[in-house]
Amino acid sequence: MKFTSLYSGSKGNCYLIQSKEANVLVDCGLSLAMIKERLAEMHLSFKCISAVFVTHEHTDHVSALPQLELFEKVPIFAHEKGAKAIAEKTMCKSINTIGASLQFKDMTVDTISCSHDASFCCGYRFTDQTGSVGIIADTGSLPVGIVEFLSPCKTILIESNHDEDMLMGGNYPYKLKQRILSEKGHLSNKQAGQIIKRLVENKCAVKNIVLGHVSQNNNMPELAFYNVVKILENMGLYEGKDLNVCVALQDKRSPTFE
Ligand SMILES: [Zn+2]
Ligand SMILES: [Zn+2]
Repeated sequence: MKFTSLYSGSKGNCYLIQSKEANVLVDCGLSLAMIKERLAEMHLSFKCISAVFVTHEHTDHVSALPQLELFEKVPIFAHEKGAKAIAEKTMCKSINTIGASLQFKDMTVDTISCSHDASFCCGYRFTDQTGSVGIIADTGSLPVGIVEFLSPCKTILIESNHDEDMLMGGNYPYKLKQRILSEKGHLSNKQAGQIIKRLVENKCAVKNIVLGHVSQNNNMPELAFYNVVKILENMGLYEGKDLNVCVALQDKRSPTFE
């Protein structure tokens, strides 16, 4: 099971998951042209994309969805609790729904409920014969059952949106700061670190940690990265040796993790 972040951040998010039989995208912010550009860097064309799984209706996750439906006719999936809001926002007519779990080609797709100010937001886990990939983004608090959900995942994309001090000291309006910090906002570096610590303590399968949805105003890739590296080092584990840590960026594709 392979994972690549095509781009990640408050302007747009799109991740590529690849098994033997399927290539699926999670979310499609920005534009179809941008997705094609990043796929082309990997010598892939959009024709190889088997489906798109959407987390929630916010623009940075769905803005390319109408183009995908119109020009590419690719199957779109969303959680049954969030599909209506995504359809209303994007005017897409052909959204398939997923509940707790679904079999798609050789992948088992599982969902987990996130805490976010969307109609409904879910995280995804994709599993094939070789292993699992987990994606948890846009959640203000750690989802219930998160450790069990991510436990089999060798690669995880976890939101590491903001540094709390940068956010509070920055120039965002007070209300927006409160929204980001709230239970229905976004995960801070500290919260991302808490999950990773629990996954390692519980001897979960995690080997590749990709930090995503990193704010360009209230965070720095280095801060997010070293926050996790330090937590691992305190547990006697070293980045690049025991585990890999990577920050998914807005303007650059991540390495592909297997
Ligand atoms: Zn959102
Ligand atoms: Zn978002």
